[in-house]
Amino acid sequence: MKTQEFDVVVLGSGFAGSLTAMILQRVGRRVALIDRTRHPRFAIGESSTPIANMVLRDLAKRYDLPRLVPLTKYGTWQQAYPHIGCGLKRGFSYFAHEAGRTFAPSLTHANELLVAASSHDRDSDTQWLRADVDQFFCAEAATFGVTLLEDCAVREIQHDRVGDWSIDCQHEGRSLPLRAAFVIDATGEAGVLPHSLGIESCGEACQTHSRAIFSHFRGVGSWHERLNDLGGNTQDHPFHCDNAAQHHILDGAWLWMLRFNDGLTSAGLVLDEAKHPLDQSLDAAAEWHQWIERYPSVAAMFADADFSPVPGELIRTKRLQRRWAQLAGEDWALLPHTAGFVDPLHSTGIAHSLCGVEHLCRILDREWRAETRLDSLRGYGDVVAKEFDLIDELVASCFACFGQFDLLVVASMLYFAAATTYERLRCGGEASIAFLGADRKEIRDLLHTACKEVSRQASTPGPVDINQFRCDVASLIAPINHVGLLDTTLANMYRHTAAPM
Ligand SMILES: Cc1cc2nc3c(=O)[nH]c(=O)nc-3n(C[C@H](O)[C@H](O)[C@H](O)COP(=O)(O)OP(=O)(O)OC[C@H]3O[C@@H](n4cnc5c(N)ncnc54)[C@H](O)[C@@H]3O)c2cc1C
Repeated sequence: MKTQEFDVVVLGSGFAGSLTAMILQRVGRRVALIDRTRHPRFAIGESSTPIANMVLRDLAKRYDLPRLVPLTKYGTWQQAYPHIGCGLKRGFSYFAHEAGRTFAPSLTHANELLVAASSHDRDSDTQWLRADVDQFFCAEAATFGVTLLEDCAVREIQHDRVGDWSIDCQHEGRSLPLRAAFVIDATGEAGVLPHSLGIESCGEACQTHSRAIFSHFRGVGSWHERLNDLGGNTQDHPFHCDNAAQHHILDGAWLWMLRFNDGLTSAGLVLDEAKHPLDQSLDAAAEWHQWIERYPSVAAMFADADFSPVPGELIRTKRLQRRWAQLAGEDWALLPHTAGFVDPLHSTGIAHSLCGVEHLCRILDREWRAETRLDSLRGYGDVVAKEFDLIDELVASCFACFGQFDLLVVASMLYFAAATTYERLRCGGEASIAFLGADRKEIRDLLHTACKEVSRQASTPGPVDINQFRCDVASLIAPINHVGLLDTTLANMYRHTAAPM
């Protein structure tokens, strides 16, 4: 077959690859978007955040993509695209369970933490049903003229010289040769390009060490109702705690629950591998049931639950942490979810991916033929690496506190300090800030010191003077605490943390 030539080939048509392809086509590049499968297909990673909404909104504005704007708020999404699967996410909720015991809510909310991300349902954050959302992004890319190749297997990638790639694909039963000046890998865990370039993997160095078991379910009971039945004071909650990225904290593990409008629930266990290494003699279903049954109030929510037809089973991962040692070169780049991954805690993935799309597209728009391009691409790789280091540090310090919920609350506040600082800087007009401010030394240093303090405290035997510790950490992070985090008078109920939009 005749070789097809492109400026850019994007491998992987998840929302991030599709959006990148769409933007680059929009600014005049000739783009091909390749996926080994076709939409709609199951994908995990569904809980969006205010940062993701801000970046998507700005990208839509900058590159004149008005059809993406409704996806940045729950209200406009429901109005414009009620058929695209979505859930209401008003914030983050955390509940500490004890093995073998029914959850016992306290008047002071000592085992609960709720952090608002939005003030109203209308302007709220969302859970993305990725099968629908990714299909939408991919179809949009095609309407802008991106050449879409689905069910297309990449057989070989050859880097002939700088600016000249040959990609041999198998498409619709035939060999399809492509040439491209630039290749972007958005294949996530598959990492087609780093494998083909022989780049070293360095994920083992991550501090976080976790694995996951997850699926989509129907018939999962409401935690909000269960809490009320158990005597919980949900009237104090800043939002309905089911309309959230719900984190149930277990012994050396946590369980996410994300609810969609049509009764579907995404649920997944994330296990600290140091405490709970994989036991191959136990299959995923047996391991899942063991965990759920150990926690009576969690088990009650799953009493009438069944798998949704897609994916129809539990998916068990190996270690989640992965990283590549080099993230960009002269004529190639990895999007963040290909570059690496840490853990789903606090839902950093979608926002991180969008920050990467924004950064990379800015370079390939403004510096396509410029001499500065290589330096800028190196800068992109450095920034994504710093973002991973920071996410890893924030997540690992939380894992260190599982089993000590009052310390976990302090550790979680470090993520919220970083996220809300980013939101405020961005709203103040700083559009090129790295995800969570990871490119700012002063932010990184503060968070590094605070994370170290939290982890040290978590591993110190004996009782903790939690009030004193909370005050110490509050003083440490004061320069980036713009929303009253670590306020003892709030009893773990943060309603004034909603993002400025
Ligand atoms: C267990 C888990 C839970 C998560 N939870 C959250 C969360 O709650 N919130 C959040 O923000 N993030 C979460 N994430 C992260 C989130 O999944 C990613 O940020 C997001 O999926 C990135 O999207 P993407 O489009 O870059 O890549 P992906 O979604 O990974 O898409 C990759 C695409 O590449 C295609 N592909 C794969 N191999 C090939 C190949 N050889 N050739 C061509 N195409 C190929 C695939 O078919 C797919 O379409 C989670 C991740 C994991 C692992």
